[in-house]
Amino acid sequence: GFKCGIVGLPNVGKSTLFNALTETQAAQAANYPFCTIEPNEGVVAVPDDRLDRIATIAESAKVIATQLTFVDIAGLVKGASKGEGLGNQFLGNIREVDAIVHVLRCFEDDDIQHVSNHVDPLADAEVVETELLLADLESLEKRVPNLQKRATGQDKEAKIAASVLGKALDLLREGKPARLTEPGDDEEARHLAQAQLLTSKPVLYVCNVEEESAANGNDYSAKVFEKAKAEGAEAVVVSAAIESELVGMEPDEKQMFLEEMGLNETGLARVIRAGYDLLNLQTFFTAGPNEARAWTVERDAKAPQAAGKIHTDFERGFIRAETIAFDDYIALSGESGAREAGKLRQEGKDYVVQDGDVMLFKFNV
Ligand code: GDP
Repeated sequence: GFKCGIVGLPNVGKSTLFNALTETQAAQAANYPFCTIEPNEGVVAVPDDRLDRIATIAESAKVIATQLTFVDIAGLVKGASKGEGLGNQFLGNIREVDAIVHVLRCFEDDDIQHVSNHVDPLADAEVVETELLLADLESLEKRVPNLQKRATGQDKEAKIAASVLGKALDLLREGKPARLTEPGDDEEARHLAQAQLLTSKPVLYVCNVEEESAANGNDYSAKVFEKAKAEGAEAVVVSAAIESELVGMEPDEKQMFLEEMGLNETGLARVIRAGYDLLNLQTFFTAGPNEARAWTVERDAKAPQAAGKIHTDFERGFIRAETIAFDDYIALSGESGAREAGKLRQEGKDYVVQDGDVMLFKFNV
């Protein structure tokens, strides 16, 4: 599955957020740096009200959401790229995730120690980014000259890699993330992806604000939003404290509490959805009397790849996909209505899956 790694300086609210996300107490929140040492993984359901609407129409006995994995990655301090403290482990854990959820402390609280003794989300962000940048820089300073040597011979792959990673190295030397590298073609893009650079992963900033600012953010979060906009990154406002209060509540109670706070949904729902978007993912559905289910697939995926998410046999023996657009499924009250109205399409192996498609796969075994 796809993984989002939660990173940030100590005491910014990572564990609080992670716990609320996974509704477990796996990662222990405590008021001192380094309390979270092992990376913790939690699988969360992706909230999607389309699924319930489909399930109602299909009269499905079970409703199964699609999932996203979050990893609580602890241990970032200044000097991580030099292997200080838990630094090396931290960087290794980040290498394994598909996207970075960067939690920034945007709340004042004199009782909670801040590593540099004052609240400054932009400076905090820079500490984390600098470590990632230095780690990439160090790795490419070694790899690029090696590749260049090999590229003078007949090694075609080395030539491509040297070219694209050379561009990345130039950016890193200017203090810019490898994310901004423009690969010359698909081959270069492939080599760049394979290099697994830390600064080429997409980033979502989560501004952890005090409870009163959960609906509209505060001056700190406004600055983070400006930064995100300038970088083409995403940002959301969350109060980790509110989210952890919400965990134990019944749905009705939750709804009332959210309304009192001026919120129409939980911050976690926004974080999960933003993470999903960040990873360039979309959802298709399967629906029947047994179950209605949401599935995750990449945004440019074709029908056989979608089938493969359900079972590898479905992909191997793919014949066609009976497909109904979500809006048609709702407007025509489900499969038979859509079929009668000519809105159930027979799609072949080159069909590019659209977000919200309700699909039934036909395959050979
Ligand atoms: P981590 O080190 O980033 O994982 O931070 P934790 O989640 O362990 O949080 C550190 C401390 O800050 C804990 O005592 C939390 O209860 C507290 N904390 C987390 N989020 C908030 C918040 O939004 N407001 C306030 N006042 N305290 C918070």
